[in-house]
Amino acid sequence: MRWAALAFFVAAIMAAIVEPGISARPAAAVVAPITLALPDISPLMTDSLAIPVSGVRREALHSTFNEGRIGHIHHAIDILAPRGTPVIAAVDGRIRKLFTSGPGGLTIYETDPTDSIIYYYAHLDGYAAGIAEGVAVHRGDIIGYVGTTGNAPKNTPHLHFAVSTLPASKEWWKGEAVDPYPILMEHGVTMLR
Ligand SMILES: [Zn+2]
Repeated sequence: MRWAALAFFVAAIMAAIVEPGISARPAAAVVAPITLALPDISPLMTDSLAIPVSGVRREALHSTFNEGRIGHIHHAIDILAPRGTPVIAAVDGRIRKLFTSGPGGLTIYETDPTDSIIYYYAHLDGYAAGIAEGVAVHRGDIIGYVGTTGNAPKNTPHLHFAVSTLPASKEWWKGEAVDPYPILMEHGVTMLR
């Protein structure tokens, strides 16, 4: 009888220990507060921006910011387009970094003229001629081409596009993610290149 009580007591403690880990696991429960805590960059957006794939219209965009990806939340928008479709600079700015990563493949980090926001373009098939670190670009300039480099499915070419605020240190890899979808739906313009 005493053993049974002890076993029950131990089981209760185990449940109490395990419970928080389990309850923290469902993505939906975690996602909502993250969305609400996103930095507001609207004061930084003084102009419209190009939807960063040539010819793509607002109606074709889908919010994929809070979708689960292996090991993390997506924190970007995927814009589907045929392989080789021009990827265009969303805003006037500067090519801050050309980087090749396992998940992102060929990528571009562009900063806006005030060096406050990072625009990130990934899974590129290639860079456009003349694109190099430090080069100034204008909204709508072709900077690369839609592809599947990195971990993109080979039969689903798309641009992975992310927007983040730069920290005071201006380190390009340390931005805080902002959902590009509402920004593009409000400020995005279609440009054909
Ligand atoms: Zn993506």
